[in-house]
Amino acid sequence: MLWNTQSYTGWGRALSAEGELARPERAAALAELYAHPAIGARRSYGDACLNSTGAAVDMTRLDRILSFDATTGLVEAEAGVPVGELARLFAPLGWMPTVMPGTGFATIGGCIAMDVHGKNHHVDGSFGNHVTAIKLMVAGKPKTITPKRNAALFKATVGGLGQTGIIASATLQMSRCEGEGMEVTEQRAENWEEHIALLSSSQAR
Ligand SMILES: Cc1cc2nc3c(=O)[nH]c(=O)nc-3n(C[C@H](O)[C@H](O)[C@H](O)COP(=O)(O)OP(=O)(O)OC[C@H]3O[C@@H](n4cnc5c(N)ncnc54)[C@H](O)[C@@H]3O)c2cc1C
Repeated sequence: MLWNTQSYTGWGRALSAEGELARPERAAALAELYAHPAIGARRSYGDACLNSTGAAVDMTRLDRILSFDATTGLVEAEAGVPVGELARLFAPLGWMPTVMPGTGFATIGGCIAMDVHGKNHHVDGSFGNHVTAIKLMVAGKPKTITPKRNAALFKATVGGLGQTGIIASATLQMSRCEGEGMEVTEQRAENWEEHIALLSSSQAR
């Protein structure tokens, strides 16, 4: 594996790290890289994606869709796939990721490791609620973990900041959507209290 010494930052650009980065193109390469932390698209605001004392594995080239079921909306994707790419590919087919953060550049691995929230948190919960399986690199081998199989490890991996190992790929339950367009309903509030009350009572997804 080729390692490059690089200076890199997270989204906030206030902090930076200098260290060796590997950028594998094939999932098979993770067998020798598993002991290093993984980073995604570096869209974290703070220093979560910076390993200032060592090497890291940049997952952004592992960006393949591995399977998709048009009937159930289940998609299996490598961890480096940007979440917005899922929307771009599948919304025209009537499916989109159930939870999407405010940036489409965040990778599937990053969305799981930070258990990101979307604007529908009050009805659909966070990203991890819609992950049905994760392939996690454990001792150099991919191990499939689900909310029921290896449940404790699954729970620790969702929102676990990558500390349980490299997420190689994951299966997500997408939600039905009408298509690529978005229908917007506008509601005006007279004051702050009314604004908060409208947000609190919203069931909009
Ligand atoms: C404009 C903007 C809007 C945003 N809006 C929201 C929002 O609405 N809701 C929200 O929750 N967040 C939001 N975020 C934050 C962002 O979605 C998260 O920080 C997300 O985790 C970034 O994903 P990433 O691929 O860039 O991960 P990185 O920033 O590269 O890494 C984040 C963490 O994930 C770990 N990680 C990444 N990939 C893997 C992997 N394959 N295996 C194991 N661990 C891994 C890293 O070690 C690190 O701890 C926003 C960010 C921006 C820039």
